[in-house]
Amino acid sequence: MSHQKRIAIIGTGIAAAAINHRLANRYQLAFYEKARGVGGRMSHRFVNGVGDFDHGAQFFTARDPEFKSVLEPYLKLGLILPWEAKLAYLKESGEIEPARKEARYVASTANSLVKELLQGASIKTRTRITSLRKDGPQWYLVSENDEDLGPFDYVITTAPSVQSQAILGDHWQLSILPPMKPCFCVMLGLSPETNLAWQGAFVKDPILSWFASNNSKGRKADELCLTLHGAEEWSSHYEPKQAHDMEEILVKRFLKLFQLDNATITHRSSHYWRYARPAAAYEQAYLWNPDLNLAMAGDIFNGGRVEGAFLSGLQLAHGILESK
Ligand SMILES: Cc1cc2nc3c(=O)[nH]c(=O)nc-3n(C[C@H](O)[C@H](O)[C@H](O)COP(=O)(O)OP(=O)(O)OC[C@H]3O[C@@H](n4cnc5c(N)ncnc54)[C@H](O)[C@@H]3O)c2cc1C
Repeated sequence: MSHQKRIAIIGTGIAAAAINHRLANRYQLAFYEKARGVGGRMSHRFVNGVGDFDHGAQFFTARDPEFKSVLEPYLKLGLILPWEAKLAYLKESGEIEPARKEARYVASTANSLVKELLQGASIKTRTRITSLRKDGPQWYLVSENDEDLGPFDYVITTAPSVQSQAILGDHWQLSILPPMKPCFCVMLGLSPETNLAWQGAFVKDPILSWFASNNSKGRKADELCLTLHGAEEWSSHYEPKQAHDMEEILVKRFLKLFQLDNATITHRSSHYWRYARPAAAYEQAYLWNPDLNLAMAGDIFNGGRVEGAFLSGLQLAHGILESK
């Protein structure tokens, strides 16, 4: 790729943020995002009078030295915080033990790292890309409002695999296309006096898979703000008209497993993630089709999760720079 080429990037999650981090000064980048704001699955919901809930990614690791070095200045600024919560592992038998120790991190608000890495970028939000159009060597992005956005020399999609394939259509059949697994998530407010022994737990259970206290991350809160995640198989039975019942089942299960039957519930709401996590995450870093000038990055690569998605975006950016 040569200097000042124009690149369109679909999505503004952590993979897209990593691309901006490496390429912002070398290429003309334009980001398109279907949501109202940036962050993708690193997202949160603020409930007035209750507090702030992370309802997507809960924490992230930084095992890779390059990811660590990118985080270093943000750790100093307090934009990233080590998360030293009291975490448990609840076994199927009901036995509970402290979770494995590992350096875990959270952002000061769920999407603040992404926001910071995308500072100054050209971003068009509320723009769902539905397909691509090729005109000679140039690409155009077609939005759901029939906007024709372009021209671009290259297009990178960071949307989850299924959504990426829908956008790429017949232009490029992806060789890697793991299905995405869902997650039903409940944001639960309990009275601040609630006596909870743990600040989060990995749970081996057919209904509940995880809970975390958002208070333990330094989030704004008037109440005890807990995020509960449903188990994958159980979440896959979601239907919109059952959301209320599923909230109730998940909350009851949590209260029972953690012996909080008498806790005072002050808030309950839910969010369904149809595309929460890839069923498989590949060890390769990204996909790039040099004949078409199309590429894909995100959490189906590099082992998945926030760290894998970041490294996927970063390594694709390196690949682009090296190809110059
Ligand atoms: C409930 C839940 C819990 C999780 N917990 C953890 C955890 O504890 N630790 C961890 O490391 N990871 C966790 N993850 C996974 C982690 O959030 C993801 O791996 C990571 O955020 C993916 O980043 P990404 O940039 O690849 O994709 P995304 O963050 O999904 O970004 C893709 C972006 O593309 C946009 N987009 C999609 N389609 C279009 C379109 N057609 N047009 C325009 N824009 C589009 C989306 O709106 C989104 O903003 C969790 C995920 C979920 C859902």
